[in-house]
Amino acid sequence: MSQSARKVLQETFGYENFRPLQEEVIRKVLNKNDTLVIMPTGGGKSLCYQIPALLFDGLTIVISPLISLMKDQVEQLHEFNIPALFLNSSLTPEEYEENVRKVRNGETNLLYLAPETLLMPRTRNLLAQVKIDCFTIDEAHCISEWGHDFRPEYRQLAEVRKDFPDAVCLALTATATPRVREDIRQILEMKDSQTFVASFDRKNLFLKIADKDDPVEQVLDFLYTRKNQSGIIYCFSRRQVDELYLDLKDEGYAVKPYHAGLSERERTRNQEAFIRDDADIIVATIAFGMGINKPDVRFVLHHDMPQNIESYYQQIGRAGRDGLRADCLLLFSHSDTQKINYFINQKEEPEKSVAKKHLDNLLDYLETTECRRVPLMAYFGETYKKDNCGMCDNCLALDSEKEDLTEQAQKFLSCVVRIEERYGINYVTDVLRGSHQKKILENGHTELSTHGIGKEWNRDQWTQLSRLLIRKGYMKKDPKYGSLKLQAEAKEVLKGTQRVEGILDRTQAAIDGKAVERTSSEVENRYDESLFERLRKKRKEIADEQGIPPYVIFPDTTLMEMSYYYPQDSESLLQIYGVGSAKEKKYGREFLDLIRKYADEKGIKERSKDIEKKKIRHSDKKKHHRVGEEYNSGKSIEHLAEQNGVKVATILANLKKYYDEGFDLSPEGLLAASTLSERKKDEVIKAMKKNGPELLKPIYEDLNKSVDYSELRVMQLYYLANNK
Ligand code: ADP
Ligand code: ZN
Repeated sequence: MSQSARKVLQETFGYENFRPLQEEVIRKVLNKNDTLVIMPTGGGKSLCYQIPALLFDGLTIVISPLISLMKDQVEQLHEFNIPALFLNSSLTPEEYEENVRKVRNGETNLLYLAPETLLMPRTRNLLAQVKIDCFTIDEAHCISEWGHDFRPEYRQLAEVRKDFPDAVCLALTATATPRVREDIRQILEMKDSQTFVASFDRKNLFLKIADKDDPVEQVLDFLYTRKNQSGIIYCFSRRQVDELYLDLKDEGYAVKPYHAGLSERERTRNQEAFIRDDADIIVATIAFGMGINKPDVRFVLHHDMPQNIESYYQQIGRAGRDGLRADCLLLFSHSDTQKINYFINQKEEPEKSVAKKHLDNLLDYLETTECRRVPLMAYFGETYKKDNCGMCDNCLALDSEKEDLTEQAQKFLSCVVRIEERYGINYVTDVLRGSHQKKILENGHTELSTHGIGKEWNRDQWTQLSRLLIRKGYMKKDPKYGSLKLQAEAKEVLKGTQRVEGILDRTQAAIDGKAVERTSSEVENRYDESLFERLRKKRKEIADEQGIPPYVIFPDTTLMEMSYYYPQDSESLLQIYGVGSAKEKKYGREFLDLIRKYADEKGIKERSKDIEKKKIRHSDKKKHHRVGEEYNSGKSIEHLAEQNGVKVATILANLKKYYDEGFDLSPEGLLAASTLSERKKDEVIKAMKKNGPELLKPIYEDLNKSVDYSELRVMQLYYLANNK
């Protein structure tokens, strides 16, 4: 059975391998065992019922809380040539009747229903006449009052479920709290069911927190390197949304606002513009997001602090569903914290204490100097084991440890006192650096004892320190004039009774996407951007003609692979991610023509995606050969591990074996897989030169056990690959 599921995955959907847990869940469903699946957004929940739906004789019902979600899913399924329908209040009576007829005649595999539609006697009547094999409850947390979107109608699903004793029940949610989980199981009476919980770590999200000092400038800086990318900017209030929206519009961005103050029509229109790539950016309050299935959201920027970790996680979760890198930046300020505190204090107990606890959890995350994934995952009850994720600001701050910044903090704060708290960051910095600007001369500030005492640092460093001092509450910035005011605690620093420690921000380059490789995937780092843009245009054209969102035709991942491999015929095209047989038939010609023309113009040849899907299917090739070839064709080691459902160490062992049999390995992917700092990498290489690369123990000892074996194994392969 699993074999046919895999076949559907590859031939119908055009994906090579299952994501973690998908295969296990599908197996359970096909065996008619009730199952609860908890997977983060983008984890791939839909396939867990869509593939069984194609393998069952009878109908699969999918309960979904939002019309927009149903519509999106059905559109996507139609693109794959999969018969699917919905029944809800958005249909005209004629459309409704037509769909009812198709259900009755067994002309569809999947039927999406709003819970209230399911509860209607005429629907129950209709369903009593057909064979139903699977009863799926999407967004199952809506059943629980402890969840964030409780829907009373969901409560009655348990009752209706009894109408279909032969159907297996599959409940899916991205909400991880144990309380909600238990509620779902109890209410749906899933007694002997199995629960699958996927990891909540979203590896492709880059997490960064920055001190908020000049938010508009910071937002513009951030957007500057992200032209044409889709993203969401969350603000605290409607007013803030409107202001920022106008700022960005003035700068020429394709942007739309979204908040509860707009009319329903405007909201729908703006959301639609975003989904269809007519607007790149949505500036929104938390009202925005539910029901958005757009997989290629490339960034989520929090202009203001979110309410708690859970909503933060939910909001950033809307980025990068397609598995490609996405950036999450949060602008953090002390005054936002105070604002939230103010709101919390308006609440009654026990909500007040709960909200306080939530805020504390959020602050732990925002203020941590260790890997951001540690507190984030801890909140969801997971222990994050790696000590360097390579995808958060703290981990990229390399091996820097907290620095003692007390001396500079004293210089800065006393300078603020000397200028009588009348000026802002730039002015103070200029005085510290000994500037003789006109204004400083006129004010007589060249005479101050603090004039010129800060030449050891550049402007950037002082600016960063000042942000840190504001964030830690030693100073405040006047919201109107930007002048700096000392707070009570600053006295302690000036007296020398309190020390200031921290890490100055060194990750701007990483978030700019310049200094570092964007990810560890060769395709993502090296695809042909100008071909990609042409393909995107083509996709948008076709989408507009058909009135569907571009991503429904092909996700970015597909276009990216096309712009890396330059497939020249339909056989090669079928090997590209997300190109199944239906889409190949429908769009293959148009995209191939474009790629061929481009490749001709530039004199580029096709790059073979070494392992064809067919070959994988029928091959009796040894595993380590397959892994070696796929690795050399540009897949990252992590990707291979995930795809094969094994540990990174296993992939490394495979690659070693491959190498030992005389094959070459490309060094870049190995270097990318290492999480060591550049300095450490050099140290390891030196130790390998000295001791020879084959035996790891002497190298381990030589480095005073400071680098663990798993890292040494990566570097060993890199060393070997490089010195062949
Ligand atoms: P969720 O509902 O858990 O948020 P989706 O089911 O929408 O996630 O899947 C997210 C994206 O990942 C979709 O674009 C989907 O087509 C894609 N996807 C799902 N499973 C796989 C897979 N096994 N291989 C490749 N892509 C997949
Ligand atoms: Zn990290």
